[in-house]
Amino acid sequence: MPWEPIEKRRSDVERANLRDYDEAVQSFSWDKARLLLDGLPDGALNIAHEAVDRHVAHGSGDKLALRWLGRDGHVEDFSYDRLRRETNRFANVLRSLGIGKGNRVYSLLGRLPALYISVLGSLKNGSVFCPMFSAFGPEPIVSRMTIGEADVLVTTATLYKRKFAAVRDQVPGLRHVLIVDADGNPPEGTLDFTALMQEASDEFDIERTDLQDMALLHFTSGTTGKPKGAVHVHEAVVAHQVTGKFALDLHQDDIFWCTADPGWVTGTSYGIISPLTIGATLIVDQAEFDAERWYSILRDQKVTVWYTAPTAIRMLMKIGGEILKQYDLSALRFMASVGEPLNPEAVVWSQTVFGRPFHDNWWQTETGGIMIANYAAMDVVPGSMGKPLPGIDAGIVEHTGDGAREITRPGTIGELALRPGWPSMMRAYLHEEARYRKCFRDGWYLTGDLALRDAGGYFWFVGRADDVIKSAGHLIGPFEVESALMEHEAVAEVAVIGIPDEIAGEVVKAYVGLKAGYRPDDDLAKELLGHARKRLGPAVAPKQIAFRENLPKTRSGKIMRRLLKARELGLPEGDISTLESEER
Ligand code: AMP
Repeated sequence: MPWEPIEKRRSDVERANLRDYDEAVQSFSWDKARLLLDGLPDGALNIAHEAVDRHVAHGSGDKLALRWLGRDGHVEDFSYDRLRRETNRFANVLRSLGIGKGNRVYSLLGRLPALYISVLGSLKNGSVFCPMFSAFGPEPIVSRMTIGEADVLVTTATLYKRKFAAVRDQVPGLRHVLIVDADGNPPEGTLDFTALMQEASDEFDIERTDLQDMALLHFTSGTTGKPKGAVHVHEAVVAHQVTGKFALDLHQDDIFWCTADPGWVTGTSYGIISPLTIGATLIVDQAEFDAERWYSILRDQKVTVWYTAPTAIRMLMKIGGEILKQYDLSALRFMASVGEPLNPEAVVWSQTVFGRPFHDNWWQTETGGIMIANYAAMDVVPGSMGKPLPGIDAGIVEHTGDGAREITRPGTIGELALRPGWPSMMRAYLHEEARYRKCFRDGWYLTGDLALRDAGGYFWFVGRADDVIKSAGHLIGPFEVESALMEHEAVAEVAVIGIPDEIAGEVVKAYVGLKAGYRPDDDLAKELLGHARKRLGPAVAPKQIAFRENLPKTRSGKIMRRLLKARELGLPEGDISTLESEER
């Protein structure tokens, strides 16, 4: 392990929610976590009640719940009480349209206040919310609305006209389209969101929702075939709250910025629900990534806890830390990352330029909440995903015919698996019983990721099972090779795949994006190959390097290794509905 653990500042340790990991694991129970929430009479539980109304009932109505930063500099503030009233209005709008418990409300919206109001208002109404990323084209929109049987779509006039009007007849069950910026003049066949909101009462009796009632539908792309709709229930809020406390170290007085879009599970679980259940203040930025804008937001909003993703971190690294000298980020006390492996290089870089490390954590759409994390009070071992959350039993398993057996020997690679039973676990892939059942074996939920656990109990990501490379009898995780190449000063981003080889079975090929000022020529390729051989040894180091301006990524920022591989081998590209445009 070439990287030294990063020790924590005493002040951070002292104020951490989770100060003693082993003690917390011992004493934790989900029943106790449930008691941190109020619930509703007769054992009912509603996510939006816990996120919003509960704080008003406890006297925090005036507290700032959400500050929205418009792309053009416009700022809009929502106190917890304003958020309660606006979400009540939306729940009343739905009810007046005949939309009730279990009906499906979809959004196709950028990060606008109406999105946040729609999510929480729908949950109050007992309806199921499904956020779609606003950059989706007509095909992914129609397939998601068809699978989820959408009743309502909330969108903007432009998105409606550009992406949906022409294909609307392919979703015949859709009952209403609400336009948030109709300005009194909604397109034909749609309704004016603002006008309906104005007419609606701001008082609402929350629909009775039980722990197991469906609340959220999040689509996740398989490598092939249709996207899968992961079903989450109201009980998930128990995990949203407690994992926000433990893994993001959120406190009530925090100003929290999660840069993920609610079109993805992170942007809903942690970009809306978790911080609000804790009573913190949430920052929402309408604009896309821009290093200077981001640093200005961190400074001006005095953000204390920041949750982002490796792609953004690598873009900040590409620009360099020098620019940070212009920004006073002294309010910032905790930074976390999710979605992709976080290279140790990035952790060490953050410690150098911010004075604090990014804390990597791991989870998936299916798990609904953070499962493995680095914690505020625990030393960070750069490159590791950390340890399982209290209440989460994680293991490394090997496959035995049609079974799965835990591997207890430290350092052995196997599939990362979790013992089901935590509240935010998906309850189904909608209408896909067989696909859902395939995820479980011998009492384990199989994640599809390969990882290892070291002797200290830290988990290390190796790669998606689909992405792992088998070369001359070695199992090579792309992450290890990518991290070694990232250490080279010329490399901004890198993705590694296996390509067929007559002798070795597969050999490693690396696709490399360079930092500004470096030329993609043979000399640099040779230098990078030499660097990798020195760091990794000849069996694991790449045999080929290809330079690329941009690597194919999902819209949530994940590098699509399988797409690089399909292209390399001339195979079908599979489901590319989440692919971000590559001509940036
Ligand atoms: P999604 O369901 O789209 O959020 O993708 C989940 C997948 O992203 C996981 O199964 C991992 O392959 C990957 N992932 C998420 N977080 C991490 C992390 N911290 N380190 C490595 N891979 C991650």
